[in-house]
Amino acid sequence: MKKFLIIAALMLLAAGKIFAQNVQQISEGPKILVLNYHQVQTANSALAVAEKDFEAQMNYLSSNGYVSITPDELYKGLNGEIELPPKPVLITFDDGYVDNYTNAFPILKYYGMRATIFVIPAFVGKYDNYLTWEQLREMEAGGITIESHTMNHYKLEELPDDEIRSELLNSKQILEEQLGHPVEFLAYPTGTYNLHIAGIAKAVGYKGAYTIKYGNVDLGSNFYALERVPIFNTGRTMKDFYERIEYRQSFEEFGWIKK
Ligand SMILES: [Zn+2]
Repeated sequence: MKKFLIIAALMLLAAGKIFAQNVQQISEGPKILVLNYHQVQTANSALAVAEKDFEAQMNYLSSNGYVSITPDELYKGLNGEIELPPKPVLITFDDGYVDNYTNAFPILKYYGMRATIFVIPAFVGKYDNYLTWEQLREMEAGGITIESHTMNHYKLEELPDDEIRSELLNSKQILEEQLGHPVEFLAYPTGTYNLHIAGIAKAVGYKGAYTIKYGNVDLGSNFYALERVPIFNTGRTMKDFYERIEYRQSFEEFGWIKK
């Protein structure tokens, strides 16, 4: 009996230790900065960052030790399959404007930064201000990853289930056919999502999805509701850029950012 009690006590101690380790891992996990751009041009648009400001931002990241990663690396890093660099950054662009090719791509290459563009296949090659398949392929050969932003950029929460499913699945399949690699990550159009839409994204084969919920990705993040830091609508852009990426933790402590 006494022996049994000692064994039981040892097991409780071991369980407590494992629990404590898990808590520590979650709180001390990597903080991954995910930037969300749209346009890189001087137009007077709420979605635009001027080329000179974008260049200053890439210069800042590269001279401050940030290492750019891909959505797949972020996924594997969170899953414990690979070790991420100490200061990882995932640079993302939504929609697929042609200025991502003409203005952002040369700057990204100059600073050795990889980036990800979430594109809308129904728009590719169709509009003057939109990327073409040739440009997408050239950028992929130069360190850019192309992922899905749905087929038509509809407001998913207003669609019936079969249309949500086809928006998510058709875009994935067309991108895979055109670009010749698996497309496993998604950015929700206008950033909006709910658990139901996230469930459909998972069911059609996405491994993760990005929102515009302001914050860092860490071990507490939901793979289908990944946080990003918006870098658009920045009036005094370098100051705003610095505040948004450097003071984010205090924003989080005050409960201003995370859910
Ligand atoms: Zn969009």
